[in-house]
Amino acid sequence: MGRSGQGRLVLVATPIGNLGDLSPRAADALRAAALVCCEDTRRTGRLLQHAGVSARMVVANEHTEIARIAEVLDLLAAGHDVALVSDAGTPGISDPGEHLVRAVLDAGHDVSAVPGPAAVVMALVLSGLPTTRFVFEGFLPRSGSERTHRIADVADERRTIVLYEAPHRLARTVGDLFAACGPDRQVALARELTKLHEEVWRGTLAEATVHVDHVEPRGEYVIVLAGAPPAPDADDDTIRAALREALARGSTRKDAVATVTAALGVPKRRVFDLATSLPRPTEPDPLP
Ligand code: SAM
Repeated sequence: MGRSGQGRLVLVATPIGNLGDLSPRAADALRAAALVCCEDTRRTGRLLQHAGVSARMVVANEHTEIARIAEVLDLLAAGHDVALVSDAGTPGISDPGEHLVRAVLDAGHDVSAVPGPAAVVMALVLSGLPTTRFVFEGFLPRSGSERTHRIADVADERRTIVLYEAPHRLARTVGDLFAACGPDRQVALARELTKLHEEVWRGTLAEATVHVDHVEPRGEYVIVLAGAPPAPDADDDTIRAALREALARGSTRKDAVATVTAALGVPKRRVFDLATSLPRPTEPDPLP
């Protein structure tokens, strides 16, 4: 029960393959809940049985999550806790949860979580790629311009990128990433995490295309892609042109220096020196 004496929605993370990863606190939260919202009652039923928990379950999957909101709010208002689990991992991460959380917060109730497995975090930390800054893209759109644009965004992204993918689409997605990012970008393919056949393959995108062609992808996969390398150093003419453009848009010299420094990723001192050599906007421009 929350501080207010009202019930809480508790997001409970569950194993992504190894039942031993269900934490004691997760089992306690499921036991304490008046209702367990889940994607599939048979699957969650097996988990509850493993944990020795008997609980009332209802389905809150991608089709029914919103329809469950009223029932959940009624229980919370009556002082009961409600648990939300997904088939595997952390609810709300490429799984139902987001709408329920929003509705519960909007109604003024507490939301809590029992943290635990999430394939995104496990794959990232095993990838060997930088972990300090990363983005989670979930599943890419399957086709069309939405997919093309997202892949272009991914190709330009400087932080490490984590993607979920189904095994039968892995080869195509690796091929598309190769086409957009070039052959040398580092990638890790993490499969069957926490399971018997857990494996993390690491290499370049060029090597990855060969790998996925030779080994039939089986099981669940996470793709972890290195961020885009910094753009090659801009030359003086490019910096001057960018400064002129910013000044022509009405920026002060100081703002133009800040904008161009951020946009081109070059040292601020260099941009400043080039900016001071430019004529004031009112003076005639001696540069070609
Ligand atoms: N909520 C889950 C989480 O916290 O990771 C993700 C659910 S999403 C519907 C399923 C996707 O997660 C799979 O297609 C795969 O990309 C990834 N995934 C889940 N379990 C995995 C595992 N054991 N090994 C590798 N990837 C996994």
